[in-house]
Amino acid sequence: MSIIHRFPGGIHPHEGKGGKAATAGLPIVEAPLPSRVTIPLQQHIGAPCKPLVQKGDYVKVGQMIGEPVGFVSAAVHASVSGTVVDVMPCIVANGTQVNAVVIDNDHTDTWEDLTPVQNPEAITAQELSELCRKLGIVGMGGATFPTSVKLAVPADKKVDTLLINGAECEPYLSADHRLMAEKAEGIVCGVRLVKKALNIPTVKIGVELNKPDAIDALKACIKADDGIEVIGLKVNYPQGGEKQLTYALTGRKVRTGGLPLDIGVIVMNVGTCYAIYRAVYEGRPVIDRVVTVGGTVAKPANYLARIGSPVEWLLDTSEGMLPETRMLIYGGPMMGMAISRHDIPVTKGCSGVLALDKLAALAEEGACIRCGRCVEACPMLLSPTMLDKYMRKGMYEEAEQAGALNCMECGACTWSCPARRNLTQSCRVLKKVITQRKKEEAALKGGK
Ligand code: SF4
Ligand code: SF4
Repeated sequence: MSIIHRFPGGIHPHEGKGGKAATAGLPIVEAPLPSRVTIPLQQHIGAPCKPLVQKGDYVKVGQMIGEPVGFVSAAVHASVSGTVVDVMPCIVANGTQVNAVVIDNDHTDTWEDLTPVQNPEAITAQELSELCRKLGIVGMGGATFPTSVKLAVPADKKVDTLLINGAECEPYLSADHRLMAEKAEGIVCGVRLVKKALNIPTVKIGVELNKPDAIDALKACIKADDGIEVIGLKVNYPQGGEKQLTYALTGRKVRTGGLPLDIGVIVMNVGTCYAIYRAVYEGRPVIDRVVTVGGTVAKPANYLARIGSPVEWLLDTSEGMLPETRMLIYGGPMMGMAISRHDIPVTKGCSGVLALDKLAALAEEGACIRCGRCVEACPMLLSPTMLDKYMRKGMYEEAEQAGALNCMECGACTWSCPARRNLTQSCRVLKKVITQRKKEEAALKGGK
């Protein structure tokens, strides 16, 4: 029997009206195809793809339209068939501009010929890694780290444990929950492929205990000799953080600034495993994903949405936002991003689009009352109140010494603060400024 370790800090955010309960029981439905998609050529951490098409080209669903450039990259594919209107910059959820392929849908849904792997049982780690790169698989939990890189384990590293992340600990989101409940066989198949190709002896799938149907579905697909264990995890945000999950399931701690790989662990999201299964058995690239549309919308849903669909399209499919909506979030309420434009495209890392009312949206900040709740909540053992102070006073060196760069931007401190101080945002700013200053210092040293 597995021992579950409790990571420090964490919170149990209330889910409020329109929380998980509103969508957790809703089966995945295919969203209708939009008349136009905007597909960013960078939907992953790493180098943007090189466009393979130009204005006027006809493309089929699944056709590669962006070629990965550099080691850390993943291909991008057309999600509808039709004509390329343009290759041009578009605004993505974080407010930056990214080059994108805009396609007018011909509504014939004509697919490129797909080529499944001939002998999936015999696929090697290198072949699997190359396939994931070619078929555009990235961390589907939101991290968007190219899976090809995760599978290319350096020769000096030894992996003995594969952890599958089915925690989905953010309020409101139920995309992974539904995928596990409905596509458990595919997920487990994907897990088996990775386990075998990388020769990893131990596999644990961690799922928060508030998803009993997902746990049962996964368990039902696992054979006695699979060497795969499904483990129910305490409901505690951010249970799905890589470091928190690693500690919870193995008791091993990832050092500051390190990766689970440093301690023999690879962590993958359930959605990524499902994408691997489809890539191998169907030759299918990532052209869609499950997106929870929830909160203050008329009809909350879990959509299988084509990549590049505008957020507005999904909101309209859900019959629009209710009048009390005050904020639109791309992702979950804790780690997602507030967006003001409705034409932002759904990308591979988008697990939710949430409309929030004024109770769920952040209220005005008050003065710190030194209650210490943010310190208790921080899973990285930081003092968010102190970091907030350093940010406001421009004390960047002190902030760095206090560990600002270790902040995982989980939002637990902001959520727990009775004064509604936006502590996470302060940490984001600190990380940006400190990293920039380090770069400038390095450039100065290099120039000497
Ligand atoms: S956002 Fe950063 S400082 Fe706040 S609780 Fe999470 S890790 Fe700690
Ligand atoms: S939780 Fe808010 S009010 Fe309490 S110490 Fe932290 S910043 Fe101050």
